[in-house]
Amino acid sequence: RIYLDHNATTPLRPAARDAMVVALGGPANASSVHGEGRAARGLVESARRSLAAATGAKVKNIVFTSGATEANVTVLTPNISVSGQLRPATRLFVGATEHASVLSAGRFDPRRVTILPVTGDGVIDKSQAERLVRGEAEAGGVPLVSVMAANNETGVVQPLAGISRIVRDAGGYLHVDAVQALGRIPVSIGAWDCDIMSVSSHKIGGPQGVGAIVYGRDDLRAAPLITGGGQEGRHRAGTENVAAIAGFGAALEELAVAEEAARITALRDWLEAELRHIYGDTVVFGRDVPRLPNTISFAVAGMVAETALIACDLAGAAVSSGSACSSGKVSSSHVLEAMGVPVDLARGALRLSLGWTSTREDVERFAEIWRGLVNRMKPAKAGKAA
Ligand code: PMP
Repeated sequence: RIYLDHNATTPLRPAARDAMVVALGGPANASSVHGEGRAARGLVESARRSLAAATGAKVKNIVFTSGATEANVTVLTPNISVSGQLRPATRLFVGATEHASVLSAGRFDPRRVTILPVTGDGVIDKSQAERLVRGEAEAGGVPLVSVMAANNETGVVQPLAGISRIVRDAGGYLHVDAVQALGRIPVSIGAWDCDIMSVSSHKIGGPQGVGAIVYGRDDLRAAPLITGGGQEGRHRAGTENVAAIAGFGAALEELAVAEEAARITALRDWLEAELRHIYGDTVVFGRDVPRLPNTISFAVAGMVAETALIACDLAGAAVSSGSACSSGKVSSSHVLEAMGVPVDLARGALRLSLGWTSTREDVERFAEIWRGLVNRMKPAKAGKAA
């Protein structure tokens, strides 16, 4: 099998599995004061240090959650406090191509949500963002802006420094969904100057069902979504999923972002060139702007993505149409729609996403599968660029 769907989820890294097996070996409530409990606490805190190192955050500013969906929904709330004083966000601004868990706007009244448009390349339109966000500040409000570091469907990377400047000028809060960026491009909460970040374990070779809220400031907190016990510094109640957190920590320790990015970029660029060679009119989305090293979002006019996906699957390759989170739905991608991609082209959009298991052999075999498929599906126009 050829697995080219790392943006949906990544195969578990052996080190993560080993760490999980160890953690599952004993009774482990990280809040217990006995030896077993202290051992569990040690695993959780070690993972917290690994995540702090990977994001440039302070250890005390990390809150483990059940994943990035929970992290996003928790922090997208008007109920934000600074130094213990409530300083509520009055309006939420979200990028048009955000993940569904951000577009759902957390605990905001839908009437207090504004969508920030993107350009044809999928990049936030900065002048529009500036006008909208500044407007809220001028009306006496406090904007909360949520923009992803990199898109899960296209890999398009957002210009966070520029966006952060807009938010700072407006006296607002900035949240960054860094799920697809972590492990693939440098992630730094300080360099991005953002207040809050969300990350997920299963996109970096860790287990599913664990993620985190990472705060860039000691003094700023969103009101907890899940209340009860005092776990995670009273910011997320519920007994910690120690094995999953330990697996996440081990996966973080395996990351070698620069080396991996160089290796994956070479494989991706080779494959992308092959796709365009196999069918000249292949459209690659986000090709002219900064993108993740691992993602190819592309389409062939007249092709139906679901048909192509099933054909690839039967031939031994796991790929995705649109985003995996919306698979099962026949509707076309909101990301491509926001970029103004014509519906008939968007219907043929496939996503290939590489990762830590990807090899030269994988991309070469996929290119062969694709060549055969295009020859069958588009016999009239198949072949080299006309
Ligand atoms: N944000 C983005 C950009 C994602 O790609 C995903 C996963 N599809 C999520 C959030 C949700 O993460 P999780 O699966 O951990 O809930």
